[in-house]
Amino acid sequence: MKTLAVLGATGSIGASALDVVARHPDKYRVGVLAAHRSVDALADLCARFHPALAVIADPACERDLRERLRERGVASRVEAGAQALVEAAAGAHCDTVVAAIVGAAGLESTLAAARAGKRLLLANKEAVVMAGGLLATALRDGGGSLLPLDSEHNAVFQCLPREDADLDAVGVKRILLTASGGPFRGRSAAELAAITPEQACAHPNWRMGRKISVDSATLMNKGLEVIEAHHLFRAPAERIDVVVHPQSIVHSLVEYADGSVLAQLGNPDMRTAIAYALAWPERIDAGVGALDLVKIARLDFEAPDLATFRCLALAYRALAAGGAATIVLNAANEEAVAAFLDGRLPFLAIAETIERCLADAPGGTPGDLAAILDADLTARRHAQRMIAALSA
Ligand code: NAD
Ligand code: MG
Repeated sequence: MKTLAVLGATGSIGASALDVVARHPDKYRVGVLAAHRSVDALADLCARFHPALAVIADPACERDLRERLRERGVASRVEAGAQALVEAAAGAHCDTVVAAIVGAAGLESTLAAARAGKRLLLANKEAVVMAGGLLATALRDGGGSLLPLDSEHNAVFQCLPREDADLDAVGVKRILLTASGGPFRGRSAAELAAITPEQACAHPNWRMGRKISVDSATLMNKGLEVIEAHHLFRAPAERIDVVVHPQSIVHSLVEYADGSVLAQLGNPDMRTAIAYALAWPERIDAGVGALDLVKIARLDFEAPDLATFRCLALAYRALAAGGAATIVLNAANEEAVAAFLDGRLPFLAIAETIERCLADAPGGTPGDLAAILDADLTARRHAQRMIAALSA
């Protein structure tokens, strides 16, 4: 029996994870549920899964959550605030943590889970982009394990012979991440100028939170995933390639020295990756329908258009620059995407904001969490000034 903390329980990944968990009450129970400020949604989940602990990150929502739970006769203890989240991730109410908070907000709880030796099911890619080195150290010190939930990294993990594989030792030449290309694949920059948030969030293959949906539309999602793959598989950037595959059936591939290329295929449904990570090294039912290759009929592949979708090229640039550049990339992207979703910034200015912030990125590598958070905050302030200038 595994006992889970689902951090980001009210989001898209949280919902998929809880759907898989509910199919296997003999294997998994929920010890902690956490969300930002969606009190009603969190209270509903608590009434369904009865966690020992419910955490609401925004302290202003604490009293509301307590009331909702009391009304429903749910006995879960309630805690609030960012520190409560970190303590829950490392605490006694879970042995497995689903890190499904969006953005830098998930960094500290992800690191805390790793340090505490939990089995870490990681969706929160921004944490890896900001602090991949620190996360690796925390995992080593804590003695826990990391299983990627991001479908591409989950696919790569499945195509590698061993969980801790050194790529050279097992004959891996190259990691090939697939990208759907997002809702605007094939469009020119001129056609992207007037894109609205609703258009950007209408992904053809996946239903996801709004931030990652915009990231998919700009291809920054793939850029973040290249950096994520670099850290998770200890792969240099030149051995991580991206290929656009609009059907989202091949979730990623690994190329070996002998010319073999292994791929993981499946319907575009995050529950497959989640079930794999939950049960690994075993396999369990995920509730996902069988893949019908005859119905799909064809799988297409093309090169990404880096000139139009500049965010992917910017992510490679940040990875090559090293130091604080990937922190700046992530912070500028989070600020620019939030401004775009608010109607304060045009779609194409997301890449522009990030490019300007990267050009001003400080040298030196932040060595600890405090330095990383400081670099993140400085980059966000800088990005805010760029956004104000670009939206004027
Ligand atoms: P979402 O917006 O649907 O959900 C985000 C969750 O995080 C919510 O439960 C929200 O309450 C919580 N949250 C937000 N800010 C918080 C804060 N400050 N403190 C505590 N909790 C906070 O997002 P999502 O689509 O589920 O994505 C979550 C993460 O998973 C992201 O990092 C995303 O890149 C990654 N991911 C998502 C998918 C997908 O299919 N949705 C696929 C791969 C990776
Ligand atoms: Mg992905």
